[in-house]
Amino acid sequence: MALSSWKELPIGTIITKPGSAREFKTGDWRSQRPIWDPEKCIHCLICFIYCPDSSIKVNSEGKMTGIDLDYCKGCGICEEECPKQAIHMEIEKR
Ligand code: SF4
Ligand code: SF4
Repeated sequence: MALSSWKELPIGTIITKPGSAREFKTGDWRSQRPIWDPEKCIHCLICFIYCPDSSIKVNSEGKMTGIDLDYCKGCGICEEECPKQAIHMEIEKR
């Protein structure tokens, strides 16, 4: 079943095929979006560890490079856990 969005899933359906979650971009679930301030970031990657949606982007040198808004659901855990207040949440504007 090739779907372009989770919204096309029939009601009651769950992801049953291993490794297929990436096919379903869940970013449009968000009511708030995280805003990252690279000037404050010390690249400790605590946000990477805590993010339940693997949405913190990290390069090959182990530095945070941003947030993948295709999958971030806006839970705010990264804002809560960041020791440098380098992430804050804003109301999502659509
Ligand atoms: S937790 Fe904060 S300081 Fe650490 S990598 Fe994430 S944004 Fe940067
Ligand atoms: S708001 Fe939640 S899902 Fe989005 S990057 Fe932060 S921890 Fe991850």
